[in-house]
Amino acid sequence: MEMNLSNFSKLQMLAQNTAADTDTSRHGVYWIEGENIRYVNEACSAIFGMEPESFIGKKYDELIIKLFDHRTSESFGRLIRGDIDKLHENAAATTTDGLALTLEIFGQRLATGQSSHVIGFIIDLTSSSEVEERLKSTLKDLADMKYALDQSAIVAVTDRQGSITYVNDKFCEISGYGKSELIGETHRIINSGYHPREFFKDMWRTIGSGNVWRGEVRNRAKDGSFYWVDTTIVPIKDEAGNPFQYLAIRYDITDKKANEEKIRYMAYYDRLTGLANRWMFEQYLATTIARAERNQERFGFMFIDLDNFKYINDTLGHLTGDKLLAQVGQRLEQIVGKKGYVARIGGDEFTVLIGAITEPADMKQHAQAIVDGFKEAFLTEEYELNITGSIGIATYPEAGLNAQTMMRHADLAMYRVKAKQKNDYQLFDFNMGEKNSRLFQLQNDLRKGLEDNQLYLVYQPRVCPLDLSIKGFEALIRWEHPEFGVVLPEEFIPLAEEGRIIHEIGTFVLRSVCEQIQSWIRQGYDPMQVSINVSANQFLQTSFVTHFFEIVDEYEIKPEWIELEITESLLVQNEKGVMEILKMIRERGVRMALDDFGTGYSSLSYLRKFKVDVLKIDRSLIQGICHDSSDKEIAATVIRLGKSLGMTVVAEGVEEETELEALLSFGIDEVQGYYFSKPLRVYKVAKMLEAKKLPVDVFTVSDE
Ligand code: C2E
Ligand code: MG
Ligand code: MG
Repeated sequence: MEMNLSNFSKLQMLAQNTAADTDTSRHGVYWIEGENIRYVNEACSAIFGMEPESFIGKKYDELIIKLFDHRTSESFGRLIRGDIDKLHENAAATTTDGLALTLEIFGQRLATGQSSHVIGFIIDLTSSSEVEERLKSTLKDLADMKYALDQSAIVAVTDRQGSITYVNDKFCEISGYGKSELIGETHRIINSGYHPREFFKDMWRTIGSGNVWRGEVRNRAKDGSFYWVDTTIVPIKDEAGNPFQYLAIRYDITDKKANEEKIRYMAYYDRLTGLANRWMFEQYLATTIARAERNQERFGFMFIDLDNFKYINDTLGHLTGDKLLAQVGQRLEQIVGKKGYVARIGGDEFTVLIGAITEPADMKQHAQAIVDGFKEAFLTEEYELNITGSIGIATYPEAGLNAQTMMRHADLAMYRVKAKQKNDYQLFDFNMGEKNSRLFQLQNDLRKGLEDNQLYLVYQPRVCPLDLSIKGFEALIRWEHPEFGVVLPEEFIPLAEEGRIIHEIGTFVLRSVCEQIQSWIRQGYDPMQVSINVSANQFLQTSFVTHFFEIVDEYEIKPEWIELEITESLLVQNEKGVMEILKMIRERGVRMALDDFGTGYSSLSYLRKFKVDVLKIDRSLIQGICHDSSDKEIAATVIRLGKSLGMTVVAEGVEEETELEALLSFGIDEVQGYYFSKPLRVYKVAKMLEAKKLPVDVFTVSDE
């Protein structure tokens, strides 16, 4: 029987039915007559990557053995020889290109007379199953990804013109708009106006040319609030590679941005005062210098270091200290106003930059304004605090041409003020260098000096001018510096205060005095009262009173042998605290003296408020007593008032007979000064102790 067309179409149908759910176009149909391949359809040859011509007319075993594995070749052989009638098996084959195939083979033997016919078809399982699997898993991956994306990101799709065609829920959530409000709109609806036009231009340039754009964008929600998003825009391209829509994936980074802002603020601004911090100031200074250089201008700035701020912190606590600093910041801004730039560059260090000056001296009036502005007390909730500042001024170009040099010089100038009377200002000039290097060295050497016994005391008698009897001695500290020789306390005590070594020095002085008194007693002298200078810093320390009496008791010193001298500036600083400490000390029988009266803060009202035993009038007032009628008047009044309040009034620094005479006429109680005696090394004091009187020849008592 010849294979006719109707038979053949049956075969085609069979093939279709067998694999109804698969793509029949991929079914290979074959027909073998005898041992020759009579027909293959295109799909059949295509499975093997060949043309039908390569099959047709060929001997079956030529090809089958080449293409199929051994087992299938065998099966085919048996079918064609007539050992079997039907074949249906899964087969492994290899294309001529070496690709492995998985096939399902159907074969039917139709025996007709002489010749045998075998017809059948082949289904390529390799491609169909794999593609399907792969497609399925890709679709699943895509679905997973879409889900994950929708859960985590704010997604929008726009067309080529930028009109929104899709938004997910998150987009609606963060923007506050509903889907219907967004679809068809452009992103302009959420534009916050924050970014410059160039920003979006760049974005469009990038995605328009088919590249991915990334950036941080601030958007505005429907309610007007702002939110930040990390944005990635992916262009989706057509076959020609042209973007036809854009997928925008955004993440909410509003919190991150807020934190960044906070960090930025913390990096540039001082939390306590809200002023610029040191770093920010340095930047500002650098730009100001650059501008001044360009425009040939001048400017100046001041370093303001608060005087004795540490005492306030130590005695009243950090909280009060912080409040005071905040107030100082505010006060400075008030004083300076629009004329300058205020920053806090350290613990108790502020700086004020004045942008426009015509000459360095202009800075003085700005500094004076600050000195004056600080005269009014600072009010914290609990306290009324008085504080002053030491101001160092640097001007451009005089104090240097770069920020670093200028700042160092402003610091030097400030340091000069500290080392003198504080509460003042000083313009930097180049002569300062040398003097300051001495101060720096002194500060460095001080601790070692104390440890190496380079510090010692000299004693200056306090004399009753009527009978020349000695009422006591004041212990005054000296430093025998290995390089500079004798250094006076005026120079190194402020350094000790700044460097926090004043407490150790205070203890050293107290112990030395106690030892000295004991030694005098051992030598048979009647104990003599000794005055000790106590620095404000020391006095306001919480442990001062306990510490003081511990040492006094340790040496078995009677309280009345010791007198403590404090300065009036201390009273101003912390009235309540000082009053309490004064009370405690005096209750134990130690006398208190108010030193340097008539300088600085002099206020007669303090004399009434604070109970002290001795009033020491400063040499500056005594000096004017003979020439200056107002000084004379003040001295007379102070002496009278002091006496009326039951104090012993002492005149300090009396050098001239005329001064002494005037003082006597005002009824002065005691006198201390070169006129009678300079401060003396202890071995020179012995004679005085014996007589308890100045020797008659003492008026020219030699130096220390
Ligand atoms: P102060 O307590 O007012 O001491 C009086 C100062 O006047 C002393 O200076 C003394 O030498 C000086 N002086 C006395 N008579 C005359 C005079 O007739 N003419 C002149 N021109 N000066 C006279 P000194 O010893 O240089 O002490 C200066 C300041 O240093 C003291 O002033 C005191 O405030 C402080 N000081 C001295 N020793 C100590 C100490 O042990 N501890 C502390 N914290 N401060 C001290
Ligand atoms: Mg004194
Ligand atoms: Mg004094």
